[in-house]
Amino acid sequence: MRVAVPFGKSKIYTAIVAEVHQKEPTAYQAKDIFQILDEYPIITKKQLKHWQWIANYYMCSLGEVLRSALPSTFLLESETQVIKNKEFMLESSLTDDEFLIIEALEHQEVLPIQKISAILDKKRVLPILNDLLKKKAIVLQEEIIEQYTPKLIKYIRLNERYNDQVALGELLEELSRANQQRNAVMTYFSLHGATKKPIKQKQLKEVSKVSPAVIKALVEKEVFEIYTIQTDRVNFKEATDSFKELSEFQEECYNDLNTSFEINEVVLLHGITSSGKTEIYVKLIDQVLKQGKQVLYLVPEIALTTQLIDRLQKYFGNKIAVFHSKYSLNERVEVWNNILNKSDKAQLILGARSSIFLPFSELGLIIVDEEHETSYKQFDPAPRYHARDAAIVLANLHKAKVLLGSATPSLESYYNAEQKKYGLVELNRRFGNVLLPEIELVDIKEGYRKKRMTKHFSERLMVLINEALDEKEQIILFQNRRGFSPIVECKSCGVSPQCPNCDVSLTYHKLRGELKCHYCGYHKPLPKICSACGNPSLDTKGFGTEQIELELQELFPNHKIGRMDLDTTRGKYGYHKIIEAFQSREIDILVGTQMLSKGLDFDNVSLVGVLNADNMLNFPDFRAHEKSFQLLVQVSGRAGRAKKRGKVAIQTFNPYHQILQQVTTNDYATMYKEQLYERHQYKYPPILRMVKITLKHRDYIKVTSGADWLYKSLYNTFGTNILGPTSPAISRIRNQHIKTILIKLPQDKSINLSKAVIQKIKNSFQSIPNYRPIRFNVDVDNY
Ligand code: ADP
Ligand code: ZN
Repeated sequence: MRVAVPFGKSKIYTAIVAEVHQKEPTAYQAKDIFQILDEYPIITKKQLKHWQWIANYYMCSLGEVLRSALPSTFLLESETQVIKNKEFMLESSLTDDEFLIIEALEHQEVLPIQKISAILDKKRVLPILNDLLKKKAIVLQEEIIEQYTPKLIKYIRLNERYNDQVALGELLEELSRANQQRNAVMTYFSLHGATKKPIKQKQLKEVSKVSPAVIKALVEKEVFEIYTIQTDRVNFKEATDSFKELSEFQEECYNDLNTSFEINEVVLLHGITSSGKTEIYVKLIDQVLKQGKQVLYLVPEIALTTQLIDRLQKYFGNKIAVFHSKYSLNERVEVWNNILNKSDKAQLILGARSSIFLPFSELGLIIVDEEHETSYKQFDPAPRYHARDAAIVLANLHKAKVLLGSATPSLESYYNAEQKKYGLVELNRRFGNVLLPEIELVDIKEGYRKKRMTKHFSERLMVLINEALDEKEQIILFQNRRGFSPIVECKSCGVSPQCPNCDVSLTYHKLRGELKCHYCGYHKPLPKICSACGNPSLDTKGFGTEQIELELQELFPNHKIGRMDLDTTRGKYGYHKIIEAFQSREIDILVGTQMLSKGLDFDNVSLVGVLNADNMLNFPDFRAHEKSFQLLVQVSGRAGRAKKRGKVAIQTFNPYHQILQQVTTNDYATMYKEQLYERHQYKYPPILRMVKITLKHRDYIKVTSGADWLYKSLYNTFGTNILGPTSPAISRIRNQHIKTILIKLPQDKSINLSKAVIQKIKNSFQSIPNYRPIRFNVDVDNY
């Protein structure tokens, strides 16, 4: 249960009772618990165990896990309240300000500090309050404010006395001169009449079309009564569809999965894009729900999942609960409580990574869809956990099974399957036997040299776009950068405008005429002249989604162009609107960033174009090739899903790159073999584990000296298994200088021992006064 506990003189925090014991603390004096906040536990024992594992494994405190895990409504805020001391007698010794406060307290028993601030029109009221405290004129009370407010819906009903026919007759008679009021009563009868269902006040207003004043008058006359019912904010409709009949191959795959689950706790399903994995999940879910157990369905990005939610809703109706970061706090509390109470409304729980923290009572299955996705990893703040890996531990606590699904599994998971730690099931056919798209690599080096490009489009891509548009088919174009162009450069002196807070160039956003930092949000209008040389010769270099969108509008003025990236999908329904517009064919060409690769299913897309595959291949990260393969195969997979074979054109300066070759033949096996070989060679995961330490501080010299000290201390234990200290590609963000150190931990040695050493060195580091202000982040398995 939650309890309120006092800290210091007047602070009160919310805590969770993790253990009840009789061991008296020796190092400090214990205080009494201030108040128990719950009537029954809102957290389960299994959750606490899981959180403890996360804290240990990812090297953070249990409190940090708690902060991530609990909807913040459960973490009560303490707000200081001022109360008048009843014994105090008004004297003349008060200053004017003091007098005002006491006077205000005569009228209102309790005043929060901000109110007092407002009354005095002063910011610093604490000294004044302090004086009043000394004079024993007031007392302070830390009042705990419950933030969660249940949603109440107003219903309306007819006063009981009109159940009597005679009374009702008299009423109608009486109202015969008040037309509007009579109308409202008659409408109530027609709504309520047959079904006897409760009638919402709003509904009555809408149907009868009377003004609120009319209903109010009837309430005042005690003809109508208003009452409220607490309801959940999110409700799903009943199921409408029966399951699809599985194809022969899906059926076989489904049986293989069940067989594999007999001997494995975790099974990896490697099924190509559009092979119908979701329909197989549906069968497995149904099987587990019938045993009375809960299912957790993890997706990389819940906002992109509207299509999936619609599909599952049709099968499972109101058994579904969605845990959505864009839901309000109150909505999330309701989902939490429904899961905790094992309500019928929360049998199948759909959510992104943080839903592993929910209070499941009896999980039977966890599905990790698109398990290769990096969004399963939380980078900041701590706990820096990987939801897939934490889900496997969670499943273990519940004796539940885990299904990892992907068309492009992460090297880690495939390696684990190869090592027989996980089961492996493959599905190599698309549903309906549609062929995988035909992928061609388009060499744009030639195109640019011979000046054959139309803006950023090769001749070949233009032909394909025109063909698709002629056939009234839709097109997806992928460009992994948002904004208009990533760099603005002066043609005279070569200088590009930089962010004042970060070590990056600003990105140009044409629609807003702004230069913007994608790391800290800094923005300013595009200057007319170069700040370095004063010449009016600023020019753009490189291109982002916004520029492609504008080019398309010029090239295809008779077609509707849409754009899906961070800038166009803000707000709760941002994604939904774009996805829906594309699905209903209001948009012909959709341009977007990697959001487009995440499991969307459109039936009329015949062409996918990738504008430039090179920048991701050249990204300075040992996973760049693996990630590029996954991304390109996934975006390609959006082409030609339903009927005919789709086409994909990938523009590149480097058509002989092995990864691009492997993408064209969908050759996961070769990609895996080659990449794993490199990981062996250069000692990277999954061969080894990695722990990344990041140091941050405003003072470059301090952080550099701290990093050197740390390196030397770590060297004694880890020797050449440490890389660094290095400045990352972007070495300053929000004015904080960054240094990183990587530690490679062999899989054979005890990981826990190594982590204990790292923790000890961290403690020593932080006991050095000069280094204490340096931010010290530990990231285990920093995928
Ligand atoms: P994946 O998740 O493997 O990419 P999906 O599950 O989204 O594939 O399936 C691709 C498409 O094929 C979807 O539109 C889906 O409705 C359809 N589909 C899959 N299996 C069946 C089936 N057994 N019967 C009818 N349609 C199916
Ligand atoms: Zn910045």
